[in-house]
Amino acid sequence: MCGIFGIYGHPEAANLAYLGIHALQHRGQESAGISASDRTRLRTVRGLGSVVDVFDPQTLGRLNGRSAIGHVRYSTAGGSDEANAQPIAVRHGRGQLAVAHNGNLANAGSLRRELERAGSIFATNSDSEVIVHLFAKAKAHKLVDRVAAALKRITGAYSLLFLTEQKLIAARDPFGFRPLALGKITVNTPRSGEQTAWVLSSETCSFDLVGAEYIRPVEPGEILVIDRDGVHSHKRFDAQPSRFCVFEHVYFARPDTLLGQDSVYLSRQAFGRQLAREYPVDADLVIPVPDSGNTAALGYAREADIPFEMGMIRSHYIGRTFIEPQQSIRNFGVKLKLGPVRKLIEGKRLVVIDDSLVRGTTSKKIVTMLRAAGAKEIHLRISSPPVTHSCQYGIDTPTRGELIAANKSLEETREHIGCDSLGYLSLEGMLAALNDLPGGHYCDACFSGDYPVPFEQPMKIKPLPLLRR
Ligand code: AMP
Repeated sequence: MCGIFGIYGHPEAANLAYLGIHALQHRGQESAGISASDRTRLRTVRGLGSVVDVFDPQTLGRLNGRSAIGHVRYSTAGGSDEANAQPIAVRHGRGQLAVAHNGNLANAGSLRRELERAGSIFATNSDSEVIVHLFAKAKAHKLVDRVAAALKRITGAYSLLFLTEQKLIAARDPFGFRPLALGKITVNTPRSGEQTAWVLSSETCSFDLVGAEYIRPVEPGEILVIDRDGVHSHKRFDAQPSRFCVFEHVYFARPDTLLGQDSVYLSRQAFGRQLAREYPVDADLVIPVPDSGNTAALGYAREADIPFEMGMIRSHYIGRTFIEPQQSIRNFGVKLKLGPVRKLIEGKRLVVIDDSLVRGTTSKKIVTMLRAAGAKEIHLRISSPPVTHSCQYGIDTPTRGELIAANKSLEETREHIGCDSLGYLSLEGMLAALNDLPGGHYCDACFSGDYPVPFEQPMKIKPLPLLRR
């Protein structure tokens, strides 16, 4: 998964792009980058690590200009090496272009083979690079036509930002798998008076940080061209039923984000309420697995009328652990992240809420830890349906062989995890909490196997080793 942020027409474009991707850090911590334009030249800084690792005031200070795009990456297609960090920045003829992509292309492998046969040379093994080659080869003269020509060749999931010397372009695939929102900032300059700067972001939480007003989502299949004359909307695709990723509501997006007009916080609370109706249990406390289960646990507790407590405390400093104890400590990894509040838990019947069960490894460790801390009963409740299929559209889900719900029955899973009871929110219940039905507005392929776009096997291309100084 990745996060993208763009800004046009602001005197502090690079600084705001930095803040914008900082607010999207939860969408990827593997690499970060920003390209900025001063209307004649693009400059790009990118590297491995989180936003604060990659940028300092000096590097940001070199990113001159009033427009910029930024990217944070969590690799889903392609490897996690520096060459795959984005934005991808290239020269094409006499022009320059930078691209930031969130999503997974479904036909990148065959397009890459076709492009290579025709002489293209690739610098990375990321699926996003084919977009740049298709753009370079497009015959059209106008920028929007070249972008549209490139997009017409690709299938799958993409929310994209293109930056040229003079323009910022945003595009969403016709199904609208991944989010992308448009906002604006009113800039007051002594010389030109009041002006509008335009911003785009995977999530509206970055608008709150940079002081932007949320306008609307970029529509599925829409291409927005932003230049000195403002925002121009282009529709170049046949209308498709929208299939927005439901997992953004379940886990991925930040709870303070609005997806369309829906608050992620309130969606998760509604999932929790629905879960309490579907899987009630007699218990003393409802506790979340922090932070992913917090909001759903609040909803469950309110609906079930059981006290809510923070029975586990999350450490926020686990990023860089290199000390492994010599003597093996059981469940070391999870204990590094979560600590039980013993006085709360001892002798209690707990409802433990998490947002999703993927491999089942985290929950097993948590249950072991809570039992060791004295819990009397542990009733695990998951505020989404069983994940039975891998995502092909940009969420990093393991292969089916590793998905616990694809391989074990409910009772086998409960036994494996070691809890007293286990309940998942139903697919119908989850969609009803979002005012939707199966086959409606959302892509729920990870829960249902109903993939809206057919996909090829992912590309398996080894990157060239890039040695650092
Ligand atoms: P697991 O141990 O594989 O069952 O992990 C489940 C936990 O991972 C849940 O607490 C989720 O909050 C979290 N999770 C779910 N999907 C993802 C994802 N794509 N990337 C990282 N973490 C995830």
